[in-house]
Amino acid sequence: MRRPTATPGSAAARIAAWQHRAGRHGLPWQGTRDPYRIWLSEIMLQQTQAATVVPYYTRFLDLFPTVIDLADAPQDAVLQAWAGLGYYARARNLHRCAQALRDQFGGRFPARAAELAQLPGIGPSTAAAIAAFAFGERAPILDGNVRRVLARYFAVEGDPTAARTARQLWEHAQALLAAAPAELDMTAYTQGQMDLGATICTRTRPDCARCPLAPDCRARIENRQDELPAPRARRAQPLRHGWMLIAECERRVLLERRPDSGIWGGLWALPQFEDALALRAACASLSAASAPQAMAAVDHVFTHFRLRMHPCRLQLPDGAAPATGHADRAWVPVGELGAYGMPAPIARLLGSLYDDAPPPR
Ligand code: SF4
Repeated sequence: MRRPTATPGSAAARIAAWQHRAGRHGLPWQGTRDPYRIWLSEIMLQQTQAATVVPYYTRFLDLFPTVIDLADAPQDAVLQAWAGLGYYARARNLHRCAQALRDQFGGRFPARAAELAQLPGIGPSTAAAIAAFAFGERAPILDGNVRRVLARYFAVEGDPTAARTARQLWEHAQALLAAAPAELDMTAYTQGQMDLGATICTRTRPDCARCPLAPDCRARIENRQDELPAPRARRAQPLRHGWMLIAECERRVLLERRPDSGIWGGLWALPQFEDALALRAACASLSAASAPQAMAAVDHVFTHFRLRMHPCRLQLPDGAAPATGHADRAWVPVGELGAYGMPAPIARLLGSLYDDAPPPR
């Protein structure tokens, strides 16, 4: 493992000092040692920027002030509070994790990163962040931002998400901590790494002049900031299609709760079909007087694929809505759509149709 040559003080200590001086302060999840609040913020901040997370975080804590409140809540209520943040597996895991903490740990968080990492939805970096912020454990983190900082500081070649490169980066993260003074402020150090990645060592145009790692950063010294980290190997993003039925009757819309696994798991959405033929067959079974009206297609991008949604509107005569006979199907009055946890693109689509539908979050 090659190390930077000149070392003007431990890199970890410089990051901690920089965080005190110039890092982000005053975010609602800072200044607490409550592992529940820290865990919640860490999960919400995965793949989502801090400014977006703030209102969700505040609302979530109003609804579920403790981990027991969260564990005891119905999954629907959790998904509804999450709706709009995306990556819904995070919300389902959050709920499962709260239940595991209630049932196996009496509602208390274990203090060690190794134990936290055994819980649903908590990966090694999130576990380390909780352990460092809440319990002061000297545990290294390696989220997306920190991967970029370390790949540049140590000039690590290769796609940082590839297993081999990730292993190297973890070793560097551990080595930085091992070389840090015993009195290192773990809160400032952990937060400082995140802040550096988010505000200074950004993906494009890093602000090296203000970076505490600049004196011995290999990427800066070799003028390779634009090359490092190596871009991810691009995979072709497949296009999938989904035919969405907007069945309406007396200003009520038919919604279905999606199975827990798969996209939008556990959320309420429009009935979806693989092709137009299947959608027409479903319309026929609803004994509508007229044919479904196709609307303009809408694309939604997921991590691994793009979904082209083909919405079709079907108006049923008054009194013709059949009983759903199923807890996971409901005719929902337009004014009550906001009470159902829906994926943002579906909420946007319905919001564009009804003036009195609650706005999508
Ligand atoms: S000196 Fe520049 S490239 Fe190196 S870690 Fe700091 S901001 Fe990133």
